[in-house]
Amino acid sequence: LEKCPARGEKELMDTIASIATAVGAGGIAVIRISGPEAKSVLSRVFAPHVPQKMSSRMLTYGYVMENGQKVDECMAVWMRAPHTYTTEDVAEIQCHGGQVTAQRVLDVVLRSGARLAEPGEFTKRAFFGGRIDLTQAEGVMDLISARTERAARAGLQQMGGYLSERIHALQSELLDTIAYIEAYLDYPDEDIEPLTAEKAAQQARAVQKELESALKNARAGRMLSGGVRIVLAGSPNTGKSSLLNGLLREQRAIVTATAGTTRDVLREELNLNGLPVQLTDTAGLREASDEVERIGIDRAREELRGADVVLLVIDRSRPLGEEEKALLGQPGAPLVVALNKSDLGAVTTDAEVHKLSPQAKIVDTCAKTGEGVETLRQTLYETALRGASPEEAYLTNERHIQAARTAAEAIGRALEALNTHTLDCAALDLRVAWEALGAITGENTTEDIVDRIFAKFCLGK
Ligand code: GDP
Repeated sequence: LEKCPARGEKELMDTIASIATAVGAGGIAVIRISGPEAKSVLSRVFAPHVPQKMSSRMLTYGYVMENGQKVDECMAVWMRAPHTYTTEDVAEIQCHGGQVTAQRVLDVVLRSGARLAEPGEFTKRAFFGGRIDLTQAEGVMDLISARTERAARAGLQQMGGYLSERIHALQSELLDTIAYIEAYLDYPDEDIEPLTAEKAAQQARAVQKELESALKNARAGRMLSGGVRIVLAGSPNTGKSSLLNGLLREQRAIVTATAGTTRDVLREELNLNGLPVQLTDTAGLREASDEVERIGIDRAREELRGADVVLLVIDRSRPLGEEEKALLGQPGAPLVVALNKSDLGAVTTDAEVHKLSPQAKIVDTCAKTGEGVETLRQTLYETALRGASPEEAYLTNERHIQAARTAAEAIGRALEALNTHTLDCAALDLRVAWEALGAITGENTTEDIVDRIFAKFCLGK
């Protein structure tokens, strides 16, 4: 079983540079340079205030210069390979932030022997340099783009190699099983077949069980890194905005509150017990009279189809409308119904809603007093997770989930083969499982998959 040849064996790379900090006004900006020429590029553009030889990892005060002119007053450092972010020689210039200066410093660097880095290229070099694997690179990306503290913690854990460790442990168990079967196949006289098959099956079943549990909890990991889509639906004046405000107000960790560009769909972000949520407020579901409104409603229906959870708000002081009845009767994403205005007389009852939609979870709320809002939050959280536990989650995206599924299926086939004592087939399927798991960490993955992952990175990382 061989390792991927791509990692650690890439031909010598050129030298890349980029602004590593966010664009816009800021105290400082960092220009990062990586590659064999990093040190010489730095020495071409940077003049220490007190002329001196710059030793590795010593921050030095000075100026970025071009054609004898000062471009900016900076601090600069270079770090010798291999103990750097990219595993190559790296130089960093801390210049003044803002719209203009960082770009000017970068331009000077690019005119002095470096080329502009592609998105994610620094981290990609850390991967090819063998310092991190694919899951750790994805962890970097999750950490940078995290929108809640909990999501950031998950990103940091993955960056630290937690997922890789779990995968390596499973691979190692599979490898033991494969070795055991192959030893028997090579020396069949040494053992009695039924015993061999039974012991191998036991080991394979343990790995399969662990994978199934990981897949069950993967939904939580995916939601931590990618967010949850909750769509808010309901007729006008049922209290949708008031309830949304209640959900936003109670927990101070609002990430952002940006109005959508269209008049029909409004997006808010909220923090649901640590899960980052994108909440979409659709236009009322009434039949539209004018064209613009009709388009809005079509879009709302589309949103409903893509939701992880639909939150339908009903004004319980009024009878159910036709649109509400239609939505309740419609299969689709898991439904949470807030029977709002519980302070007013109940015209619509829980039983009536339950009859139309037996699966829906019903919560009585009063947006006016805030009653039931906490229960609503908890219900939304549990409905989104569907039994998955964020604490137990370590597969965090669709790529991991697909690979783990492939591995679990291959182990299933291996178990059948062991059952019928076709040990050679079992060994082959266990190898397939071993390789599928290897794809998660990037041990045996193709370059286009690697490229696709790093293309999602932001510039300068
Ligand atoms: P939306 O059109 O669905 O977003 O509904 P709004 O949140 O704008 O609320 C419509 C009206 O209902 C407003 O006058 C709110 O003050 C009122 N309202 C919302 N929730 C409640 C509630 O629980 N009880 C009562 N009595 N009034 C409410």
